[in-house]
Amino acid sequence: MARHIVKVSAVVLRTRRMGETSKLVTLYTAEYGKLKVVAKGARKPRSRYGAALELFNEIQAVCYLRDGRDLHTLSDGDASLTHPSLSRDMERLVFASAACELIDSVTLEGESNDRLFQCLTGVLRGLEEVRQAQLEPLFWYFQIRAASALGYRPELVQCVSCRRHPDGSWRWFSAAHGGVVCSRCNAGGAIRMAGESLAFLARLQAIRTYKADVIPSLPQGAEEIRDVLRHFLAHYGGGRGGLRALECIDRLNGCTRVPAASHDRLPAES
Ligand SMILES: [Zn+2]
Repeated sequence: MARHIVKVSAVVLRTRRMGETSKLVTLYTAEYGKLKVVAKGARKPRSRYGAALELFNEIQAVCYLRDGRDLHTLSDGDASLTHPSLSRDMERLVFASAACELIDSVTLEGESNDRLFQCLTGVLRGLEEVRQAQLEPLFWYFQIRAASALGYRPELVQCVSCRRHPDGSWRWFSAAHGGVVCSRCNAGGAIRMAGESLAFLARLQAIRTYKADVIPSLPQGAEEIRDVLRHFLAHYGGGRGGLRALECIDRLNGCTRVPAASHDRLPAES
């Protein structure tokens, strides 16, 4: 079986114990997309990996890839960027975990997507920098960018069907149609949201950076924005838009939310 050695830039998405001393590590790499690697001896006290394989770290990894296999071997890994403040703050930790979980759930092994890699490194760096009130808008921005990187850029301004700008104070968002539909084109199954909430999402979509000086603070109507994005990602993420990490965010916020999958869809306006 062909085996080749590669050096890749990667983010540590997930780690799990393996045997007595090793770790099974899920990496998201710029060059090969998601890779599962075995880091032999990584749990030994004086492992050569040190703390390089901590969650969210950006690392330079040397891997042995085996053609036709899902599981590869890590031969070396050095952290090029760590995110210490993500593990010190519960809310930052939860959003960082949700970002990694989202990438893990919407990707397959070995399919590279450089834009998605940039989304992941961008949001993890941003989550360290922004103020508390910007954390969730930053995560929404990441969700919109990730959807675009996967080829599902939501249309947030014009009706996806007739290209008109919807009027009135309410908008309809249809995950199946990939964005906003006007009341005339809504054939059912769309979620109703306030015009201001949609405008907020459109404003996020127009941003081009994860930096703290451009990410807005949490707006009014956060709940419906959350629901629309979850519904949208559940639709395109193969029904796995319900991220476990986000349930922690709900608990942190002290509210119970309707899961995206069972969202109460409003009928079409007549
Ligand atoms: Zn229309």
